[in-house]
Parts: sequence; C-alpha cells; structure tokens
Amino acid sequence: MSRADEEEARYPCPADGSKLYGWTAAHDPIDRDERIVLDRCETCGLAVTRAVTPPDVDAELDPLIRRLPDGSLELTAPNRRSFSGGIGGAQWAGLEPDRRRLHLNPESARLLLARRGLEVSEVSTGFTAEGRRLMVQTFLNAFTFRDNFLANARAGRIEAGTGGGRWIYRLDWLVSALVYGPAALFGVPLEAVGAAFGRGGVMVVRAVDARTGSIDV
Ligand SMILES: [Zn+2]
Repeated sequence: MSRADEEEARYPCPADGSKLYGWTAAHDPIDRDERIVLDRCETCGLAVTRAVTPPDVDAELDPLIRRLPDGSLELTAPNRRSFSGGIGGAQWAGLEPDRRRLHLNPESARLLLARRGLEVSEVSTGFTAEGRRLMVQTFLNAFTFRDNFLANARAGRIEAGTGGGRWIYRLDWLVSALVYGPAALFGVPLEAVGAAFGRGGVMVVRAVDARTGSIDV
C-alpha cells in the first residue's frame, strides 16, 4: 500500500465524508515484510485499508448483500463494534486489510446503505460459527507472528516458505495448536454473551428501500 507515513488518507470516509485518520500499520498477514496501513473514521467508525485510490464501495458491498423473498435486503459482514473487535483492536480477526478495504460496523453500514437509498430496519448479531471463529482467531493473533494465520494457512494463502520463514510458519502452527483450546474455552462463552448484547462478531443488517419499503432500487 502507499504513503504509510501520512497521518490522513487522501480521500474522505466513503460513508459520511469525514476525514480518515491513520489508525494502525500492521504487518501484512501474508507477507510479513510488508506493512499495511488502516485508516479509521472517528465519526462512524469505518476502518479503511489505505491505498492510492479511494475504495470501490459497490464492489466491496455487493458480495455481502443478498435479496430476501419478502423484498428486503440483507448485508452480512464482520462487526467491528463487537466484543471480539473491541478485544482485538488492530489485531481483530475480522480485519483482513490485505483482502478488503472496508471494515464495517452497524453505523457505517447504515450510512453506506443510505447512500444507495436504503433504510436499515434491523441489525442483529447472532451466535454464529463465524462469530466464534473470529473470537478464537482474535485470541490466537495475540500469540502468532502473523495475524489470521490459521485461516490463511488453511486457505493456502500462506505457504511454508524457506529458511527463517519456514520456522516462523512452523512456530505459528505450533502456537495456534497449543493456544486454540484455551482460546476456545474462554472465547466461545464470551462470544455468546457478545451476541446476546448485540456485540456479536458477525452482523446481519436488514434494509428496505427508503421510499417504497421494497428493494426495487
Ligand atoms: Zn465515516
């Protein structure tokens, strides 16, 4: 990514037009030699992976949205305003700055959908398998060299490499295996509580057309 030394992004928050301030510069989960800068909007809480150009909001949101038979629309995404998001901060497993530019919370999702003429009718955060995975992986991120190591290694996005890289790869597997049990023992009940209080790791945002109540937009 670019301009890691600047305090602000060169484009505004796509949800509300506020300034995006530099939040964290993390190691790239795939390539530890690279660093990725995330900016954050202090108004709506949207976190945005920094790049030269502004994020393509439609290209990022469309895969998250599905239309329901009753005419409403549903957006499902990791919830930055979750227990795991609060615990993890810049090391939250829901942050995948190498794969996505936009990291949402309910407020930023509401504003982005409003720009499409959609009105949010309900936000829910259930006790889901993905929410539990995010919580456990967030704990693991405190111990491994690379964030989100398990998910990336299982998906084949990280390979063993050579030399020192191979040892780090082995160590990340070993640490993940050792810490997984305690992390799940502690994290899963915590995620259950978070989900019950609207702070689950995954949010489902229901929306309808702001004028007609249907989604014909
Ligand atoms: Zn914003």
